[in-house]
Amino acid sequence: MAAPWEDVLRGPAALREAAAAAVDAALLAGVLLRTQGEPNASEVVNYAPFTLLPSAVPSALFEQAYAVQQDFNLLVDAISQNKEFLECTLASTVKVDDFTARLFRIHKQVLEEGLAQSVFLGINRSDYMFDSGVDGTPALKQIEINTIAASFGGLTSRTAAVHGHVLKVLGKSKEASHLLPNNPSKGLALGIAKAWELYGSQSAVVMFLVEEVQRNIFDQRCVEYELWNRNIRVIRRRFRDVFEKGSVDDAKRLYVDGQEVAVVYYREGYVPQSYDQQNWEARLLLERSRAVKCPDIATQLAGTKKVQQELSRPGILEKLLPGHAEAVARIRATFAGLYSLDMGEEGDKIAAMAIADPDRFVLKPQREGGGNNLYGEELKQVLEKIKDSPERTSYILMDKIKPQPAVNYLLRAHSPLQASKCISELGIFGVYVRHGKEMVMNKAAGHLLRTKAIEHADGGVAAGVAVLDTPYLV
Ligand code: ADP
Ligand code: MG
Repeated sequence: MAAPWEDVLRGPAALREAAAAAVDAALLAGVLLRTQGEPNASEVVNYAPFTLLPSAVPSALFEQAYAVQQDFNLLVDAISQNKEFLECTLASTVKVDDFTARLFRIHKQVLEEGLAQSVFLGINRSDYMFDSGVDGTPALKQIEINTIAASFGGLTSRTAAVHGHVLKVLGKSKEASHLLPNNPSKGLALGIAKAWELYGSQSAVVMFLVEEVQRNIFDQRCVEYELWNRNIRVIRRRFRDVFEKGSVDDAKRLYVDGQEVAVVYYREGYVPQSYDQQNWEARLLLERSRAVKCPDIATQLAGTKKVQQELSRPGILEKLLPGHAEAVARIRATFAGLYSLDMGEEGDKIAAMAIADPDRFVLKPQREGGGNNLYGEELKQVLEKIKDSPERTSYILMDKIKPQPAVNYLLRAHSPLQASKCISELGIFGVYVRHGKEMVMNKAAGHLLRTKAIEHADGGVAAGVAVLDTPYLV
């Protein structure tokens, strides 16, 4: 899987020159983050961390990941409409995980009241690693699917140009021309625009529901500008603003600051820390309205780790996607081993298996955003402590994926330039729009490659561990 440019990185001088060119190209292209010190101001910004060089990705696996994305869109949408499946699957989790329980209560409540929403918009990102099998042949294995606030589609729309420039500086113009164009921000915006159009009110706006701390604003702006270019108005508001200035009228139309909202695009709301009592009330207000939520609360629940684990059980995919045998086969081929820790004999055996061989597994709670999973010795200690208590059911167990590392340089502000052994995670963005029962859009909308040093078991770009990358197909 080697990329063809090890030869050009001979001396430290050549490396430093390439890195300086790379950083300036990133700043010029708008691959930006606000700073940790001033996360809510754009006076001082910096480049988002990225690799000096593109990373090699096996083209067959890249194509496989694209080919299965429409299937995953169908699957997520089917789960979100299957009340019984969500209820059964999350029954053990909601008993012990308060956050999932609160989301689930809102889900139940809006179903009981009757859904006001008739247009559904899903934007997800299915993430994979390339597992090196026993004979060294890499296989595509899904890490998870993110059904809410999947980020970096904007910034990554600009990284291929940066890496193309770096390759040219290094005398690799031919290779530069092989980098694939990639524009998730446009794909995501087309989905949002379609949902806005189907909502059917020219004067209504799209509301980006954003965090209190907005370091990653430029990523969101990329999508936002695509909408303005289509003459769709965008506003940015926090849960707090919705609580203070949001309302729903008799026809369940949502208004914020006096403006009718057609689409609510969540870039927030996926961790417990996002919510105090007021923010929960704001979430309920949004879910009750007829505005298109991206995602609606059922689709957010479809992205939980517990659902992911349940999907891997024999017969479940077939039940969720009847008549789609080929899609089911494509989806299943990407699954790693996933195990339930529900109470009972089966769960006891799984817990014992993980304690006996902790390096084979990852222990995952029902959390998003990186940095929550447990590995190795820590996994063992935690499982030993909770193995006989229902608390264990708030976790799932997963086979650990072991990709072949490759050398790269991770460019980060104020960090020394040094070679690191790295592994990559490929994400494919999916977008779909359903109008009543009819799917009117179902697409793969581009990709994201993130790379991190092997010392870090966990964590994404926002967490400061992984960096943006560009695939070089081999
Ligand atoms: P989150 O919702 O926090 O992003 P993930 O399931 O994506 O949760 O896990 C976070 C990170 O942990 C991933 O980006 C990946 O680097 C690592 N990871 C997760 N699952 C596995 C696995 N099965 N094998 C190896 N690494 C994993
Ligand atoms: Mg993840």
